[in-house]
Amino acid sequence: MDRFDYDVIIAGGGMSGLLTASAVGFYSKQRARVLVVDRNSADEPGKKTNAGWICGDAASKKSIGFIEKSIGIKYGSPELEHPVKGIYVYSPDHKTKVLFEGEGFILNRKLMPKRQVNDAKGFGVEFKFGATAEKLIAEDGYVRGVTGRDSEGQQFKATAKVVIDASGSSSVLRKFNPIDSYIEREIDIEDMEATGRYLMEFDKGVEDETYFTPEYCLIHLDQVIAPAGYAWVFPKGQNKVNIGLGVSKPGLDRRNKRLGLSDNLSTLIDKYVKDNPCIRNGRLSTNPDDKGNEKGNWQVPVRRQNDCMVANGFAVVGDAAWLPRPLDAGGMGPAMYASMILGKVVAQAIEANDVSQEGLWQYNVEYMNTHGYQMASFEVLRRYLQTITNEQIDFGMKHFLTQEDIDAITERRHPKFNAISKLNPILLMRVASQMELAKGLRYTADKSEALVAHNLDYPATPKGFPEWRKKLLVEIDDTKRRFNMSGAAS
Ligand SMILES: Cc1cc2nc3c(=O)[nH]c(=O)nc-3n(C[C@H](O)[C@H](O)[C@H](O)COP(=O)(O)OP(=O)(O)OC[C@H]3O[C@@H](n4cnc5c(N)ncnc54)[C@H](O)[C@@H]3O)c2cc1C
Repeated sequence: MDRFDYDVIIAGGGMSGLLTASAVGFYSKQRARVLVVDRNSADEPGKKTNAGWICGDAASKKSIGFIEKSIGIKYGSPELEHPVKGIYVYSPDHKTKVLFEGEGFILNRKLMPKRQVNDAKGFGVEFKFGATAEKLIAEDGYVRGVTGRDSEGQQFKATAKVVIDASGSSSVLRKFNPIDSYIEREIDIEDMEATGRYLMEFDKGVEDETYFTPEYCLIHLDQVIAPAGYAWVFPKGQNKVNIGLGVSKPGLDRRNKRLGLSDNLSTLIDKYVKDNPCIRNGRLSTNPDDKGNEKGNWQVPVRRQNDCMVANGFAVVGDAAWLPRPLDAGGMGPAMYASMILGKVVAQAIEANDVSQEGLWQYNVEYMNTHGYQMASFEVLRRYLQTITNEQIDFGMKHFLTQEDIDAITERRHPKFNAISKLNPILLMRVASQMELAKGLRYTADKSEALVAHNLDYPATPKGFPEWRKKLLVEIDDTKRRFNMSGAAS
């Protein structure tokens, strides 16, 4: 196997590529030769698009702590820009709020990759900046390297025992994977969210903690403001916010048709900023650390992770593997967990001289057993929530959501909505749409139990995968049929 240029090539130097690189370095005791290929220049690593490092920037303390626990990297200032105590989710009428998540940080996503490049270099990782990976090289049923173009437009080719696709949500490597494998190539458009945000400074307007507080992240559910998605105000200081929203494109089209409007993502964000009474004279951040990152739109996958994330000599991670959580599009936490697991598994596979699908399979198993097992059930809940009205969300958050449910969501379990069976049936029957809501939520809770049990039974080897996936798709297709039949309200 020494004929290879590298042991591992990682395409994409964002959150997941850089963390995976460090993890391979750490777990191989720096014996593995690792190359990260990132299309950005060396002074702008991890930039997602020309518009910047577009993100809501919020990550939980727990997921950040997992990196320290795994490979000993402890973050601090300036990459952890602002601490928060949790996330409040508000109903459309702002009358009900629920606190999800524990403490966390609003990151500076432009500075974070710089720190992560240095960390990776400390583990012996090499970098090729200004280089775009375009194609996977295939040989004997294995992925054996990448070809691409450098910043001068010159073709390059590099071979490796394992190639990792960490190139984000617009990955072409996964899409055109040339070998037969269980990795899905395409994602349904319904499972992508169009998202965008501003980094803004502002003068203080009115005091209203339902619109801004420096201590908590705020999420606003509203099918008119952010159809089939949600809007957020994440504090970056006393007078600074990351403010934006995400929508599903079909949800936005339905909402525009229903209301006779022609909004797009940018007009929705502008209205959301303008209608925030706490933000007066909002202007794009003038902080030099935000330069080139003040404003931008991008896309996030919001389905369960790819049902299989490995093939012979190949693995996917981060947004390229559709890791973000379906309910809130939070992708950094899943990327942090998955990168640590993948780095360990790849280091072991190289040591064992077996980089086949089977040799890398443990990445699927460990990620599914520790984090991925809830994602399919959250995908189903997300799909259902996208079909309900603002009035139903107001009612549901007020009457159906118990502390037990909130704890469940915070701990990444599916809520059981037990309050529904305890509610006065006469109250429910008086309003037919609330009865429908109760039935829908119960259905998602029951479906969730089946999906979690099925996921925790993920096959230990590739042999059991086709049968396992067939059963999974029966469950998922059942939910798609049901929600389409109930009609989309937004
Ligand atoms: C508006 C918005 C808000 C969000 N808010 C949050 C949030 O608050 N909290 C949270 O946890 N998550 C959030 N997310 C999701 C989070 O940003 C992503 O999950 C995370 O950045 C994924 O990291 P990644 O490394 O997989 O991909 P990316 O961050 O997209 O990194 C991919 C890297 O690969 C490079 N690249 C791409 N193609 C190639 C190629 N062919 N060759 C070489 N290099 C390439 C890119 O330039 C980039 O450097 C949000 C996303 C968006 C868009």
